[in-house]
Amino acid sequence: MGTRLRQTTRSPGKGKDKPKVAAAPVDLVRQHIANMALQYVQCRDWGHSWRPYSVTQERGDWHQELRCARCHTIRRWILDRYGHPTSKTYDYPDDYLAAPGTGRMSADDRDVLRLRSLQALLTADTTED
Ligand SMILES: [Zn+2]
Repeated sequence: MGTRLRQTTRSPGKGKDKPKVAAAPVDLVRQHIANMALQYVQCRDWGHSWRPYSVTQERGDWHQELRCARCHTIRRWILDRYGHPTSKTYDYPDDYLAAPGTGRMSADDRDVLRLRSLQALLTADTTED
């Protein structure tokens, strides 16, 4: 499942000084966000832009692949004959995910990522017209 985009329920402005268990070291994550390709930033901010890629049927199960038009992540689902998903895997580009061991992004990290996404749009708006 696409767990890296899971929402947290922390209220804005609360708990900012508490240690974040299992969160990634801030410096490593911020560095990763700063260096991340823009299409990866946008997919993390807006969600993937899925397009049909392939579908096959094997022994009654459906094997469906969707591909993100922006970042080329492949979403592979296996669904039973009733349409119920029995397996969900994602195949990300090598440099999409943060370095191994850096853990998940905190809510604050995601704010930083959103700002980078917004700044890129602002830059695009002022240069194209
Ligand atoms: Zn994507």
